[in-house]
Amino acid sequence: MSAPSELPPPSTERLEVAGIAASLGIAVGTVHVVPRTGRAPRRRAQDRAREVDRLKTALEATRAELQVARDGLDEEMGLVLDALLLMHSDRLFVDATVERIERDGLVAEWALERTVASLKAPLLASTNRYFRERAEDLEHVGAHVLRHLRGDTDRWTLPERELVLVAADLSPADAARLLGDPRVLAVVTETGSATSHTALLARALEVPAVVGTRGLLDRIEGTPEAVVDALRGRVIVAPDAAERDAAIDRGARFLRFASSLRDRAHEALRTADGDAVELLANIELPAEAGAACAHGATGIGLYRTEYLYLERGALPDEESQLEVYRSVVEAAGTGPVVLRTFDLGGDKLPHGARTTRGPNPALGLRALRLSLRRPALFRTQVRAVLRAAVSGDVRLLLPLVTTVDELRRARAIVEECARELEAEGVAHARVPIGAMVEVPAAALRTERLAREADFLSVGTNDLAQYTFAADRGDPDVSELADPLDPALLLLLRSIVDGAARHDRPLTMCGDMAADPLALPVVLGLGFRRLSTPLAALPFVQETVRRVDTPTLRALAAEAIELDSAVEVRALVRSSLDGSLGDLWTEQGLG
Ligand code: PEP
Ligand code: MG
Repeated sequence: MSAPSELPPPSTERLEVAGIAASLGIAVGTVHVVPRTGRAPRRRAQDRAREVDRLKTALEATRAELQVARDGLDEEMGLVLDALLLMHSDRLFVDATVERIERDGLVAEWALERTVASLKAPLLASTNRYFRERAEDLEHVGAHVLRHLRGDTDRWTLPERELVLVAADLSPADAARLLGDPRVLAVVTETGSATSHTALLARALEVPAVVGTRGLLDRIEGTPEAVVDALRGRVIVAPDAAERDAAIDRGARFLRFASSLRDRAHEALRTADGDAVELLANIELPAEAGAACAHGATGIGLYRTEYLYLERGALPDEESQLEVYRSVVEAAGTGPVVLRTFDLGGDKLPHGARTTRGPNPALGLRALRLSLRRPALFRTQVRAVLRAAVSGDVRLLLPLVTTVDELRRARAIVEECARELEAEGVAHARVPIGAMVEVPAAALRTERLAREADFLSVGTNDLAQYTFAADRGDPDVSELADPLDPALLLLLRSIVDGAARHDRPLTMCGDMAADPLALPVVLGLGFRRLSTPLAALPFVQETVRRVDTPTLRALAAEAIELDSAVEVRALVRSSLDGSLGDLWTEQGLG
């Protein structure tokens, strides 16, 4: 145990904690701490049958609570809670708890705690982020049931004032209920990641959120004021007056700025010297499509359809996929919708997936490789895509294409599906077929892929992972996989040249396009079609409008000759600070 002198200072003193900015914005308000749930009582049951009854009543109350939260959400956001509902009624979960009561004679709370711990352990040990996040879901369901067992359902009742919500954790059901409440100015959690369900909900409900602020709860006393800086990923508890005022200023400026950028969102997008740039949006949830177009995206450049599968934990059939794809196409109006076929495997695996992970999942049966190995899954999706194409400008994108042969085999299957639909008399339309360029082999031979693909899209997240042999989910090596490294810039140049040889439309949909310091280099390399997450859209638009092609070309040419990403970043900063410095500051770059 640490000596008292090593304990952190109480929070009424100024305290600054770093976390992950999960939903953009800045808020200042009085903290409302949701106390941690205490430990479950560890007693032997006096009456085992009664404990089983208590458990069943609590499970039923939890189900009703989750259902109410779910009903308050639209169809797509509701899928997040469906995952919890599914877990809640899982036989393994319920039966194991009942058994612990009946066989071991534990009280319901203790039995529940043991079940959660035993089911969670293998999930947490997984190197796969998806499984680790399911451990979080399990924890949330357990916490809900425990609350009902204890009759402790008031802990989430909010005081009658505006507040910054600080909690150890927030289940998606709590997030859905609380983040829509106008009293909640911002949310801070000790756990979570930028891709956790709670983060997705915070973004969708536009509430600034900083997650992953480990150890914060125990350091807060009373109800101090806090600055939640969800641009820089920082929380300052009991800020001094200057910090408080500066944060209020920056928050207001950010809102004004984002809304002023939004005012111009629908103006044609051109560089300062008149080069047209097409800006599309990346989405994970269908519900994001409408917002993307309202924020000035001219279409959906990447719909990561595997989330449909991951959230449901089951394979959606052709009809349900069709319904979802149609809703995205409708939301995009006349704009294009690029539907990427399931990028499953690697770190993205659904519940109960029967695929073996192999010695190295990132290098194994993933994405298109899995689709070609399991064509039934692929065919169902392709049929739904071709049918949705009747309603608008739909394009089909294949993830992780490595060889020309894979592209040909996938194209042949798409052709077969089209013929099948024709024979069945089902309305459908042919669609352009594109290849993701995200493996170095594909980047080096883009010219060959470009001959046969109708369009290309660069995934820099994976391209960096595979180029630098650094797992994108491993913080120990993530620094190595910097897309601004000149090695990656060389590959990007080869991709741009290869696509141009056959005049194929080329998009960058990897996160590099949304990185404020990388974007000028990307444009300088010749990319004129970008697809970025929603939150980045206004900043990308503004950057494009302020820069000119000759300057960016010279910048990219110089960057490629440097020795490291650090040098490239320094070059970008020194060359463009005058024109883009304020934008970088607004996005939290010091
Ligand atoms: C990428 O790899 O850059 C990409 C856009 O795909 P994902 O992040 O979904 O792997
Ligand atoms: Mg990828």
